[in-house]
Amino acid sequence: MSNGEKNAARFGCLICPSVILLAGVGTLVKTEFKLPLANKTSTSEDEETEFVTKCWLIPDMFQFENVGFSKTVGNYKYLVCADCEVGPIGWHCIDSKESYIADHRECSLTEEEEQNSMDNHSYKYFKTSPN
Ligand SMILES: [Zn+2]
Repeated sequence: MSNGEKNAARFGCLICPSVILLAGVGTLVKTEFKLPLANKTSTSEDEETEFVTKCWLIPDMFQFENVGFSKTVGNYKYLVCADCEVGPIGWHCIDSKESYIADHRECSLTEEEEQNSMDNHSYKYFKTSPN
């Protein structure tokens, strides 16, 4: 995995069939961002966060297939699935207008899947099966 790499697989929602982003749109960048863990209810106040170190940069909101905003925190808006509102799956920077989808590869993968994802740079969380 290297900086500047494009996403090889399209990203889909964790729980519904919506496509979030088509393949080749996001660019892999390093980051340091504390993002709340994705769950079905984004209303919980004491959210657990995870430290995201890799994410996919999407320079324009219009490049998404299907994404919505949840709450605004400082200079950022959290991104959620537009259909089922699961999230946050990433964040949008209000100043720069750039959006980022977190690399959640470590989320609920078995060791074997983790190994696979290390090999092919894909990850279960956002991956959808090809048509
Ligand atoms: Zn969804």
